[in-house]
Amino acid sequence: MTIAQRLNQIRQQLPSHVRLIAVTKQVSVAQIRAAYESGIRDFAESHLQEAISKQEQLDDLKDICWHFIGHLQANKAKKAVLHFNWIHSADNLKIVQRLNRLAAESSLSPKVCLQVKILSDPNKYGWEEEELFAGLSELKTCKSLKIKGLMTILPLGLSQAEILATFKKVKDLAHKIKKQSNLDLNQLSMGMSGDYLLAIQAGATMIRLGRIIFGEKD
Ligand SMILES: *Cc1c(COP(=O)(O)O)cnc(C)c1O
Repeated sequence: MTIAQRLNQIRQQLPSHVRLIAVTKQVSVAQIRAAYESGIRDFAESHLQEAISKQEQLDDLKDICWHFIGHLQANKAKKAVLHFNWIHSADNLKIVQRLNRLAAESSLSPKVCLQVKILSDPNKYGWEEEELFAGLSELKTCKSLKIKGLMTILPLGLSQAEILATFKKVKDLAHKIKKQSNLDLNQLSMGMSGDYLLAIQAGATMIRLGRIIFGEKD
């Protein structure tokens, strides 16, 4: 199947409020152009250098919205602010504060999701629920960022029922935070190729799909 055919199949399953983000790590610029020609405007990358090099080659496509989804090291934060419209992977208070300062310095206001870790997973970054509540007052002072929602990546090996329950917990957490603060967490960035239908069922507003659009990499 071509990228266009795969995208058509996926789109038929999506409610209109769900934003489809194409994840293009290790995907060639030619394949990105094919997805663009099929109507995709949201693209996500998880490595800054790879992303910036592709962005330069795609500079003629002015209406792409770029999403950063990888773990962000402090010394890379400035590039993330300069090169991305959305940062989904703000996974601790220090990095959020740094992004806020850099955004102010550059007169930019990137949209940000807070990456949360609902199930403890030593291999994954993210805020634990208690950390997030403890950080709320600090987060509210980060006025140069548009903090829009929560993002999560699930650990491997969960059953369908566990996946659905965990995505629902992320939605509940966003709801609890909205009640306690003026943070407007209406976006839920969750769901990848293997679990996006469950994520949508649980209330995802943005899904991040790689393999199911571009095929498995060898
Ligand atoms: C790679 C990646 C995806 C896409 O995963 P697929 O299984 O290829 O759909 C989504 N989110 C993040 C954070 C990723 O790193």
